[in-house]
Amino acid sequence: MPDEKNFYKDIIDNLYDGIYFVDRDRVITYWNKGAERITGYSPTQTLGRSCRDNLLNHVTASGVLLCQNHCPLAAVMEDGREREVEVFLHHAQGHRLPVMIRATALRDETGKIIGAIETFSNNTHVINTRRQLREMHRAAMTDPLTGIGNRRHLEGRLRAIIAEFQDGASHAGLLSIDVDHFKEFNDSYGHNTGDIVLRMVAQTMRHALRATDTTGRWGGEEFIAIVHDVRDEDDLRAAAEKVRALVEHSRLDINGQGLTVTVSIGGTMLLAGDTPDSFVGRADQLMYRSKQAGRNRVTIG
Ligand code: GH3
Ligand code: MG
Ligand code: MG
Repeated sequence: MPDEKNFYKDIIDNLYDGIYFVDRDRVITYWNKGAERITGYSPTQTLGRSCRDNLLNHVTASGVLLCQNHCPLAAVMEDGREREVEVFLHHAQGHRLPVMIRATALRDETGKIIGAIETFSNNTHVINTRRQLREMHRAAMTDPLTGIGNRRHLEGRLRAIIAEFQDGASHAGLLSIDVDHFKEFNDSYGHNTGDIVLRMVAQTMRHALRATDTTGRWGGEEFIAIVHDVRDEDDLRAAAEKVRALVEHSRLDINGQGLTVTVSIGGTMLLAGDTPDSFVGRADQLMYRSKQAGRNRVTIG
């Protein structure tokens, strides 16, 4: 029934997705309008050419060229198993375009594989959505005033580090860091200047520690640092002293005045059986001991 054949061809021709067929030598035998629309190549530029011929040149996000050794069409013709891959294809105008491709074996009536079909669709919107999700996640975990992690972020990291510790995979310490006499500071210089100083303290703290450590704002003028890979209390004390000294030597120059603050720190090592509450609670108690002993100091225990 030739009409029926044309009917199906019409549908495939006009599908929104790109579709092309290759024979066993990977020579392109069919190229629909969707493929032309997405790639910028017309059927006259593609039919009869090998898909290896510097045409679409699929490349992964990490830069692996698929054509030579990792061609999904070649693989599907080998084992008949459908494949789905996210790649960047080469557009006729030169740029790289993200697409989701699906490679399927093309069989004759006897089931013998006689070629392969690739369908592909523009993946830009998927990638944009993912980017937005990442950005929303980042925003939900960041303290807007200081730019470092917020309490939710810290709570997640605490649960993670405790789970790793139970598996015997890590050692960690925690610092509870509280700005000294900050109420007085606000009273003297105003809340806005106080805000700027909180940002200064947060950023100093972040840079004092390693990039793999976690720093965050627990609330108000209280911060927490999770210090990774510390062997013992001496290591933790060294990290805490660095934070304390660098905050003491940070200075905000405003209206000809150099404004400084100090912090009191309590630090403790993660112990077997700790929960986030017990871990933070112990560091808090030690921080108060630093306050009682005169502030601008470190107590480890
Ligand atoms: P201590 O040395 O005992 O910690 O004294 P302190 O004054 O720092 O402690 P207290 O808990 O009495 O006061 C904390 C102050 O921190 C009071 C509050 O207004 C201020 N603060 C909390 N959050 C913010 C903030 O986001 N911005 C500003 N500017 N100040 C804040
Ligand atoms: Mg305080
Ligand atoms: Mg406080």
